Amino acid sequence: MKRNSPWTFVVSAFLALLVAPAIAAEGGEPDGRESQISTVQVSPNVYILQAKADDADIAVYVSKDGVVVVDTGLQPIAQNLRDAIRAISPKPIRYVVLTHYHFDHIGGAELLAREAPVVAQERVRTRMMMPSHVGGRNDPPAPTAALPVITFDKQLSIFANGEEIRLISFPAHTDGDAVVWFTRENVVHMGDAILGTDIDGGGDVYGMVEACERVASMVPPDAKVIVGHVGVISVEDLRKKGKQWKQAANAVDAAIKQGKSLQQIREEKLLGGMFENNADRIAGMIYANLTRKK
Ligand SMILES: [Zn+2]
Repeated sequence: MKRNSPWTFVVSAFLALLVAPAIAAEGGEPDGRESQISTVQVSPNVYILQAKADDADIAVYVSKDGVVVVDTGLQPIAQNLRDAIRAISPKPIRYVVLTHYHFDHIGGAELLAREAPVVAQERVRTRMMMPSHVGGRNDPPAPTAALPVITFDKQLSIFANGEEIRLISFPAHTDGDAVVWFTRENVVHMGDAILGTDIDGGGDVYGMVEACERVASMVPPDAKVIVGHVGVISVEDLRKKGKQWKQAANAVDAAIKQGKSLQQIREEKLLGGMFENNADRIAGMIYANLTRKK
């Protein structure tokens, strides 16, 4: 919404995985400016909260029945997040949904779990119980109190004030991604599902393609699409992103089948026109993905 055009947002993909983590990897707590949280209204009852420190685009749904929170940002600013949610609505939190296991999305879960159950795809819980290595960080297992207590495999619906909030899983950015669709609000939160794949976390480039295509055909054409670290994009942008990932994945796949090495793929600039400065990095990501042993 505020940050960039959809065509540069693949850059954010790698900010999500590689650069944002560096903030915490450098050891410092986010400073005052980084931990300030701004609030943007997306629909009558859905807001996104954005802190410079994590840039995670936390969604907050408010109703007379209470609040549903999607993602929880970085751990050091969890209390700021709670305060920002309270500033939107004094109602209690009913559910906390995690879109995937990355530290910049689960950090506030322990604090918010004091008030409401944490919900996620089942592999998010499994991965949170293990040490994680994302973006150059080595994190211990998440605290037990932060773990999801409601899990699902393919799909789960939560109801609040008559609003169906539908959680649908895709193996895309990780193997436990959940896309969260606020059906009546006409808003869908993609998490980081279209921003690049975390190979060690079970991400899959064709899963990203599927997430883009299925969500774009599932939601109304005028739905608002929230993407972690990006803000709000349109359904048309989502569809274009799916096409772009598919084109890139098919190009690398064909090159692998011709016996080409990653170095050749890079030298021939197979993805050059698609991703500008990130082409080499993305070629490496897709190559690792498609040659990964199952
Ligand atoms: Zn992520």
